[in-house]
Amino acid sequence: MRTVAVTRIGSLRDPDEATRGRIGVVDLPEPPLGPEDVRIRVAYSAICGSDPHLAEGYFGTDVPIGLGHELSGVIEARGERATRNGLKVGDRVAGNFLRFCGTCRPCQAGKQQFCENIQEYNRPGMAETVTWHESQVYRLPGGVSLLHGCLLEPTSVAVRIADKTNVRVGDRVAICGGGPIGQLALQVMRMHGATALTMIEPIAARREMAARHGAEHVIDPVAEDQRARAAEITEGGGYDVVIDASGSTRAVSGLLDIAAKGATVVYGAMYPERFELPLNLSDYLYLKELTLTGVFVSPYAFPRALQILPRLELDELTAAVFDLEDAPAAFDAHVSGRHPKVLIRCNDIVDEGVAS
Ligand SMILES: [Zn+2]
Ligand SMILES: [Zn+2]
Repeated sequence: MRTVAVTRIGSLRDPDEATRGRIGVVDLPEPPLGPEDVRIRVAYSAICGSDPHLAEGYFGTDVPIGLGHELSGVIEARGERATRNGLKVGDRVAGNFLRFCGTCRPCQAGKQQFCENIQEYNRPGMAETVTWHESQVYRLPGGVSLLHGCLLEPTSVAVRIADKTNVRVGDRVAICGGGPIGQLALQVMRMHGATALTMIEPIAARREMAARHGAEHVIDPVAEDQRARAAEITEGGGYDVVIDASGSTRAVSGLLDIAAKGATVVYGAMYPERFELPLNLSDYLYLKELTLTGVFVSPYAFPRALQILPRLELDELTAAVFDLEDAPAAFDAHVSGRHPKVLIRCNDIVDEGVAS
């Protein structure tokens, strides 16, 4: 089974070819179809901002490391007991790369994200097929194409980020980072009735994209005085909700200064393992009573992500598509930042679910 994988550990941004991380297309065995499993012929699998971290060995260094957890496709086979959610061969689906066991103490305590048996079904989905437990699979709504459907998983992250903000209608909201998660979070926060909705992003094309999809203000944190602009936009009060979707170590500390008293700051990205954020407890937790939180994975967010998928504007996030065998070029394009999101077409599947 042709699968996109990390074939050499290293930074994909390393200027030295000899030590740079490498992405290749390898043959991996197709896992057996268990009685409660479904096999999905993958249509599209999107490159995630976390994939370069995998190339750096964040979750292990044994290559090849199969990639891909943001995917859509069509069910081609079903185990004999995979019937509890009414899934059928031919269904257009997307899903959650994580299978929560439902049995361990964290699962039973409503904290699926800390499931102790979570890795069992985390299989590479940037491949010809992926075999998942039926509990991981969601049928796409009729109006959602396979192309857009591969964004179910990142949409679930945006939903989870919104949950963690505890946003209320009318709250002033700033989002730092105009990558895919930031852009999706922007649309989700707009749905929540966010005001003074602001995108902080150094790349002009990403600021413009945010402005097309609901950002009322944009800040260039490099060319502008972020704190002064934020004060001007919020009439000195600061933002009630601040979301980091950049993962940038340069960006994260300044966010505490644009947060209002009593605000929630969600660090909604992946950060370098050894990076530490200086935190003045007197200023930020005592005087300002900030709530600081983060997002690891997104339990319970998929059904709601599925509900909002037809309402999201996803064309710009799904415009750059590469074929499976061109995955190395697709990752080069991802690293270059030329496209807001890069997709891999894993099979050429006629989408029978939507009129095009
Ligand atoms: Zn992802
Ligand atoms: Zn569990």
